[in-house]
Amino acid sequence: MCSGRVDLEFVLRAFSNGVDGVFIGGCRLNECNYITHGNYHALTMALLCKRIMEHIGLNPDRLRIEFMSSAEGIVFADVMSKFGSKVKELGPLGKGEGIDPNELKSKLAEIRKLVPYIKVVNQEKLASRLKSPEEYDKLFTKDEIDKLFSEVISYYIDPEKCQACMTCAKRCPVEAILSAKNQIHVIDQEKCIKCGTCFEVCPPKFRAVTKIPGGPVPPPLPEEKRTIVRKGKEKKEN
Ligand code: SF4
Ligand code: SF4
Repeated sequence: MCSGRVDLEFVLRAFSNGVDGVFIGGCRLNECNYITHGNYHALTMALLCKRIMEHIGLNPDRLRIEFMSSAEGIVFADVMSKFGSKVKELGPLGKGEGIDPNELKSKLAEIRKLVPYIKVVNQEKLASRLKSPEEYDKLFTKDEIDKLFSEVISYYIDPEKCQACMTCAKRCPVEAILSAKNQIHVIDQEKCIKCGTCFEVCPPKFRAVTKIPGGPVPPPLPEEKRTIVRKGKEKKEN
């Protein structure tokens, strides 16, 4: 229905599936029928995606976004014809850029896992309504995208602070938190998509979730050491 629905993940998934080029067609900017102006979202997402493509060595021209009305059949045919020729000229995905296919596959898989994180970090810029094509290139810079990936934040639950209230586990969108009653909670780093929800929802009186930018995450506490012995209970048992 709306080009604004074209998520970054959709585009990266298409490239993961081996397509050589992705075209996104949206209504003309400022001519959206809705107050959401989703085509601006599509535009900023495509600009971000192009920078990510550059970061992993793919030619950003493999992604094209254009805005036109449904009455502009000739414009559409012309754009598609030019885009088709461009993609042919670039050659098969990855091969044209000289990237090993397995390396490309794993790079795309890593980036796709980080999509929620990438969107959270860039949410302000993704919501921009760019006024002119001159602003397009400046929205995301290569340096900031390189930095984004070199300083990816990991989330870690401090075993000294966790009180096993279970709030984070209930809110984690991908069930990445190992949770049990009276057990210190642990984040499964393989499953975590770095959305930051656990950090946001851990009650301020505990503040058990910490952010670790770039560096290694401490190993999880062994299962046998996760049980929390409450002071009251200890006294009762004595
Ligand atoms: S950041 Fe926290 S809430 Fe988000 S996926 Fe990772 S563990 Fe789950
Ligand atoms: S919300 Fe905080 S205190 Fe509660 S289980 Fe999660 S990390 Fe522990």
